[in-house]
Amino acid sequence: MKTLIDRILKDGKCYEGGILKVDKFINHQLDPNLMKQIAVELIRRYASTEINKIITVEASGIAPAIMMGFLLDLPVVFAKKKKPSTMADMLSSTVFSFTKQREYHVCISKEYLTPEDKVLFVDDFLAYGNAAKGIMDLCKQAGAELVGMGFIIEKAFQNGREAIEAAGIRCESLAIIDSLDNCEIKIRQ
Ligand code: 5GP
Repeated sequence: MKTLIDRILKDGKCYEGGILKVDKFINHQLDPNLMKQIAVELIRRYASTEINKIITVEASGIAPAIMMGFLLDLPVVFAKKKKPSTMADMLSSTVFSFTKQREYHVCISKEYLTPEDKVLFVDDFLAYGNAAKGIMDLCKQAGAELVGMGFIIEKAFQNGREAIEAAGIRCESLAIIDSLDNCEIKIRQ
């Protein structure tokens, strides 16, 4: 997606350890217009797929997910990273965060992920695919069908796509980073 690629090259910043900072338009300050274009492109790619729910993980996945949910008139569920004390019937899975170097949980109420659901998972980044694996596990526990995954940015050199495709799940990314070596952003054109 050219607008997104241009924006990453203009405003993205590289950090040691293969981390890309996009705080100016995705992870802290948000660009609603760009987010709408992102949602429209993901919807276009999944136009022939039957979906009845968008799921994501808090916090940075919520913006693209709600844009898609709004445009498709579908409910959006975000997995919580802490189990709320008020939520009794929870599905839960453990995820290792590579940016924070620690484990966290992804939790969704059984009320909001059920065997009737055909789910599209949306997130800001695909890195090693750990969050994606956590979501696959939650969908399996719920008996929900995971029909695909959509990411704003994929860091291809961290190979997260392999686990998703090995599970037979379609994976779409709008910008694919091939390398962040020497703090230089190399994007697939
Ligand atoms: P994964 O679970 O695929 O290893 O990592 C994806 C999650 O980690 C995303 O939800 C995202 O929040 C975070 N993440 C991974 N790599 C980066 C990165 O380079 N920059 C930012 N801002 N977040 C990242």
